[in-house]
Amino acid sequence: MKQQEKKSASKADSKPKASAKRMQARDPSDLADRESRWNYALVGSGLGVWDHNDRTGTKYYSDTWKEIRGMPVDEDYQGNYEEWLTLLHPDDRDYVIEAIPKQIAGDPDYHVFEYRERHRQGHWVWIECRGACVEWDESGAPARIVGTDTDITARKRSEEMLEQLSRRLDLALEITRIGVFEADLEAGMVEWDDRLLTMYGVEGTPRIKRAEEWEQALHPDDRECTLNSLSESLEKDRGLLQEFRIIRGDGAERVIRSRSAFFLDAEGKRKLVGASWDVTEEVNLRNDLQKAKELAEARNQELEAARASIEHLALHDYLTGLPNRRYLDRMLDERAATCRENGLTLAVLHIDLDRFKQINDTLGHRAGDAMLKHAAKLLKGCVRSTDFVARIGGDEFVVLCTIDSASKKLSNIAVRIIRELNKPVRYEGHDCRFGASIGIAADGGPELDPRQLLLNADIALYRAKASGRNRHEFFSKDARRNIIAVKRLSDEILLGLERDEFIPYYQLQFDARTLEVAGVETLARWRHPEHGLLAPDHFLTIAEDLDAVSTIDALILEKALADRAGWAEEGFVTPKISVNVSSRRLADPGLAKKLRAQKIEPGVVSFELLESISLDDCDDAVLANLRQFRKLGIDIEIDDFGTGRASIVSLLKLSPRRLKIDRELIRMLPQSAEQRKLVRSIIDIGRSLNIGVTAEGVETMDHVRILRDLGCDTLQGYALARPMPASQVPAFVREEHWRQGETASRRPKGAARQPLNGSRANKSA
Ligand code: C2E
Ligand code: CA
Ligand code: CA
Repeated sequence: MKQQEKKSASKADSKPKASAKRMQARDPSDLADRESRWNYALVGSGLGVWDHNDRTGTKYYSDTWKEIRGMPVDEDYQGNYEEWLTLLHPDDRDYVIEAIPKQIAGDPDYHVFEYRERHRQGHWVWIECRGACVEWDESGAPARIVGTDTDITARKRSEEMLEQLSRRLDLALEITRIGVFEADLEAGMVEWDDRLLTMYGVEGTPRIKRAEEWEQALHPDDRECTLNSLSESLEKDRGLLQEFRIIRGDGAERVIRSRSAFFLDAEGKRKLVGASWDVTEEVNLRNDLQKAKELAEARNQELEAARASIEHLALHDYLTGLPNRRYLDRMLDERAATCRENGLTLAVLHIDLDRFKQINDTLGHRAGDAMLKHAAKLLKGCVRSTDFVARIGGDEFVVLCTIDSASKKLSNIAVRIIRELNKPVRYEGHDCRFGASIGIAADGGPELDPRQLLLNADIALYRAKASGRNRHEFFSKDARRNIIAVKRLSDEILLGLERDEFIPYYQLQFDARTLEVAGVETLARWRHPEHGLLAPDHFLTIAEDLDAVSTIDALILEKALADRAGWAEEGFVTPKISVNVSSRRLADPGLAKKLRAQKIEPGVVSFELLESISLDDCDDAVLANLRQFRKLGIDIEIDDFGTGRASIVSLLKLSPRRLKIDRELIRMLPQSAEQRKLVRSIIDIGRSLNIGVTAEGVETMDHVRILRDLGCDTLQGYALARPMPASQVPAFVREEHWRQGETASRRPKGAARQPLNGSRANKSA
């Protein structure tokens, strides 16, 4: 552009202008100087000069004038008015036609006017035309009009852009309902736009307001804070974003957000300009959301609490508050995983309260509950806080400990627990005493199986209880095998009862002097489907634990009575039948009733009771039964006499019909004078009290002779007859083998297999 200007400048310079010619009349050198200076100024100012002189009939157009329109400067342009009009923008043409005469006439409104003219290259050029009449003819009509044209296209464009911009801004403010203000801080005045007036509910009031008017509009609760933050930003000369409530002209409360910044205006005055918009809806929504969120959170908390308490209930024992079996199951898995990961050992202590049932039975359930709570508290006190204590059933508890090695520690814990639980507890004036048995199993390593561990602790507990209670036992593999065998046997016994596999065998008893049959003792046998005929050693102890011996005793008696009737039909009438009665059966309160139902012939049945049943600690049920036996004509014999420590006096209170000397005392008779003395004194006691004496384990004819000489009443033993099935009894009696003294070497068909383990019967067999 500058280059262009320079070019025009040089051209203007080289060509003397017509308008300048008039000046030449004065000082020519001065005139030339002035002209060139004038030309430079014109070119520099970008003004295109035109000169219409009607007197001379000339029209002059400067180079710049031509350049504005894209004409070559050397073109001889004569300015035809009609032609020129065609170059004007159609929208401006009428206006220009009207404006020119007014300009010439000197109308100040038309001294300058603007219009568009087509550039030679086809585009529109905005031109600012300044002109005036400078000479008039005699009649006063305009004779010469001179003026300048300026290319104002660029200015027009920026004006247009500005207009467009402000239109857009206005639209944007309108759409977003943003109000704008400008405050003069020194004057304490502020100017609001219409939107702001509407926002504050003061439409139609003056736009210029005192600052206090705005302050008055602020909500009283927000006023101080809003003004403070404003003066703070004023001090720090920092823009600010505020949110405050206002009370509108119509009394409504609204929330306004406002962003503003400080600036110095052209006169150096400090001003604050800003935009405000109404965020009431947004804030309401935000508040609603916040409230809803708080509500939801509160509800969640309630739900969480409910869930937690449900879970707590599901995982805890209501009475003691300890974790329950379910929780234990979960914890077993967790602890086992921890142990597997960290190479630790998991120990399970299975605790069972001893004598708890008695407390429950004698003092009532409330006492029992109190004891359980007490035990729970003690247990927790005996272990580390990280150990897990659960109540898994009536009076059973489990403790889980994680330790670095299965060491003495466990033993110490168990001892401590037992010691603590052994201390008497006072309850409503009673001293309650109970104890505890503990089974312990511990294991670690990658193969750690927590369920197996729990089973193992249970097995150990069983052993602890079996070996005397109030003690602890560690699990061992042997114990486990044993338990498994016992378990299997228990199942088989129950099944055997169902299948009627238990039968009586009979061992005949003889009169010592005449060797006539004096009676039979029934001995239980189990016809096991796999193992054949089994003697009591194989099943009696377990049957006792199972509480099945009474059942066996009862069915043996029943079968014996039936067999006796059968033998009678074959011609053998036995003077009496002895059956063994377990202590359980003896204590059965329903026993008398059952016996009555069997219609037992009086004087025929003897009950063999073990010497270990001492009358001293017999309970009422036993004493009642003993009375009933006498009423029913059932005799009592004291079995295994001489082995127990029971006082003879107390035994005599049972008024037995016979004493059966234990076979251990009989065995050594031939060799031992001492034994003979002992047996003789037993026989003497019996005789003086009119109680019969039977010798068991009579194995040889030597025994027979010695016992007869000692004055024993009845003999029972292999020397004379082995136990045999009912079917063989009549023939055996008929053939009287025992008299031939050869019985000892002959075994009846189907005799019991010898017990496998070292039992009493076996040792002497
Ligand atoms: P017990 O009442 O002392 O029975 C006598 C045991 O001695 C029987 O063993 C018998 O076979 C065995 N015996 C008999 N003569 C001789 C002999 O000359 N030498 C030797 N060494 N032993 C002889 P069994 O049948 O094995 O019974 C063992 C124990 O089982 C019985 O001892 C008894 O206490 C108990 N028992 C047997 N049957 C029953 C029953 O039906 N009910 C109850 N509750 N207990 C029973
Ligand atoms: Ca017996
Ligand atoms: Ca016996």
